[in-house]
Amino acid sequence: MKSLLDPFGRSIDYVRLSVTDRCDLRCDYCMPRGFSDFEVPEHWLSFAEIERVIGAFARLGVSRIRLTGGEPLVRKNIPSLARRLRALPGVEDLSLSTNATRLDKHAAALKAAGVSRINVSLDSLRAERFKAITQGKLEKVLRGLMAGKQAGFAPIKINMVVMGGVNDDEVEDMVEFCLQHDFTLRFIETMPMGATGRAASARYVDFQTVRARLEKRFELIPGVMPGGGPARYVQVAGTALRIGFITPISQHFCASCNRVRLAVDGTLYLCLGQDDKVELRPLLRQGISDGELEQALVAAIANKPERHEFTEKPEQVVRFMSLTGG
Ligand code: SAM
Ligand code: SF4
Repeated sequence: MKSLLDPFGRSIDYVRLSVTDRCDLRCDYCMPRGFSDFEVPEHWLSFAEIERVIGAFARLGVSRIRLTGGEPLVRKNIPSLARRLRALPGVEDLSLSTNATRLDKHAAALKAAGVSRINVSLDSLRAERFKAITQGKLEKVLRGLMAGKQAGFAPIKINMVVMGGVNDDEVEDMVEFCLQHDFTLRFIETMPMGATGRAASARYVDFQTVRARLEKRFELIPGVMPGGGPARYVQVAGTALRIGFITPISQHFCASCNRVRLAVDGTLYLCLGQDDKVELRPLLRQGISDGELEQALVAAIANKPERHEFTEKPEQVVRFMSLTGG
């Protein structure tokens, strides 16, 4: 079994694939209000180009792929892309991050295409507040979530970006909601990605405080989550509910980083919090061979930075999350 090793001895086996930089929501901390300066369609990697890059990664030892964006489900025919990627030799796990606004239409097709797990962003259970944060309709997301459950995705993870004075009073409600529906819950610290992320980071909430608050109402015991990635988990005693804390700021997890990100225009970003990147689109369109593509990927991984510097240099990353594939 091949393994793609970076200079710090980390094995890269996971690619987050942004299939679009567009989105039907405008979450406060992610995409600027009124933003519409999107990548032109001629620059989008085609499904065939994506398949080539992911195929090359898989031959080098990558086994896990996550479809993300922007909002992946605003791009047409994602179930058909999912099917093609899942069929590639070496790809063992295909997952999706979505805001769920369109999940009711696509859940069954995605499941049939081989997507096994989904993560859904949900920052509030109150319709007005949800609208204020995302500009979208909560009812659509809830409908999408229930369709995901119906289609048999397991686990479904809810990702909540916790912001002081915005939605931090809802952490208990979110636990109850996840208990009721058998979802996994993850609280995420805001990252200073772009001006939007930096502005939202000002409403930073200490997760020790969140945990202490939850402990007043729920008995939390140490928990584990298979393939849980960077989250540290606790479990609500006597239930199956796992709660993860994703703390890129207060306790970064760069030492165990196993991933890179491919943007819709074919830019391979080597770290979420650094600008190191390789442009794959020109190589693909100049007719690079499969062997040369593999060499380009190996060379790219040799330049993977050691860690992000969100705390030391919060102004450093000018692109916002939806451009990178969060
Ligand atoms: N549209 C999909 C969604 O919302 O799940 C997928 C893409 S979105 C960029 C992926 C994740 O990034 C979401 O969970 C979102 O909450 C998170 N995100 C976006 N901007 C962020 C920021 N500045 N800090 C922390 N998380 C952020
Ligand atoms: Fe869209 Fe996801 Fe960014 Fe919200 S977090 S604006 S849903 S890409």
